[in-house]
Amino acid sequence: MADKIAVLPGDGIGPEVMDEALKVLHKTEEKFSFKLEIEKGLIGGAAIDATGHPLPEETQKLALGSDAVLLGSIGGPKWDNLAPELTPELGGLLALRKLLSLYINLRPAVVYEELKESSPLSPKVLSGKVDLLTVRELAHGIYFGQPKKLTDEEAFDTMIYTREQVEQIAHVAFRQAKMRRGKVTSVDKANVLSSSKLWRKVVIEVAKDYPEVTLEHMYVDNAAMQLMLNPLQFDVILTSNLFGDILSDESAAICGSLGMLPSASLGAEISLYEPAGGSAPDIAGQGKANPIAQILSLAMMLETSFEKVEAATAIRKAVDKVIADGHRTGDIAKAGDEIISTSSMGDLICSFI
Ligand code: NAD
Repeated sequence: MADKIAVLPGDGIGPEVMDEALKVLHKTEEKFSFKLEIEKGLIGGAAIDATGHPLPEETQKLALGSDAVLLGSIGGPKWDNLAPELTPELGGLLALRKLLSLYINLRPAVVYEELKESSPLSPKVLSGKVDLLTVRELAHGIYFGQPKKLTDEEAFDTMIYTREQVEQIAHVAFRQAKMRRGKVTSVDKANVLSSSKLWRKVVIEVAKDYPEVTLEHMYVDNAAMQLMLNPLQFDVILTSNLFGDILSDESAAICGSLGMLPSASLGAEISLYEPAGGSAPDIAGQGKANPIAQILSLAMMLETSFEKVEAATAIRKAVDKVIADGHRTGDIAKAGDEIISTSSMGDLICSFI
């Protein structure tokens, strides 16, 4: 039986960039002689409009019956004022992550040589290639910790980590570092938070299994600063759910556009692949979105879930080539560049595979 993927385009630019990723998938299947079974489903606002729920039962069954999920993006102003559990964000995306027991998010951030000018950082700071990977805990911490309370007078959330949860993610970060440049920066707030004190203790213990990897610790406030001052110092950043949410967006900003950045969320059985950015309502439906994040998410999926390393490499090389040749969507263009559409970018990438 063919490997199966659930394709959930979602809202805003999601369906536009997903069309391009599927074009690239079909081209790659032809070129490398394999075939994935594809089934599309609804999530987020699109699912609310069609069924009243951001993660309908049918989508849940589809995701659980697939080997991997390729997601576009969810959300938009139309669905912002619903009850929290019915919003695309909580009831859709966070619920899907929980359903698939996704526990780790991998977010590469690369500053392409040719796109240094799109980065808000000065050339002095970008004196080499920024190539870092944020490994973020995804299933626990303050977003899910109980108890929570919200009244008009008082509100709180609970940041909680167990030894086992920290061990699990630390091993993934050290294994990634072994395949990269051999350095882990564990980011916490151990000078203030008890959950961070345990985090740091456990990470130090796990590091003993990886003598070839260098471990350093950094407080989250300093890490936020260091990402701006000297991003070249980072290889793998290992951090908790809340800190990783913020730092991975900051590392995305260094790259110039969210439209270039893929991500993978790993589960024990089924993993989820999606662009780092959101549904970009400001440019949705105008053919302006950059499909590269979605296309690189596809590459991560082919490599990680289906071991199609050659196919993933061909996709990445095709992306490198369009960038090197100067093709630009609006988000990565500088003054005077010709701006191409979402579908032209997808076509060009296909042509280089
Ligand atoms: P956003 O990531 O959607 O947009 C931020 C900026 O980045 C916008 O200017 C947008 O045009 C630009 N951008 C993002 N992706 C792009 C692409 N592929 N090509 C070109 N430009 C791109 O974040 P936001 O505006 O804060 O949120 C919009 C909606 O998306 C909200 O409803 C939010 O909840 C949702 N959201 C969803 C996800 C997700 O699906 N994983 C993540 C973040 C936000």
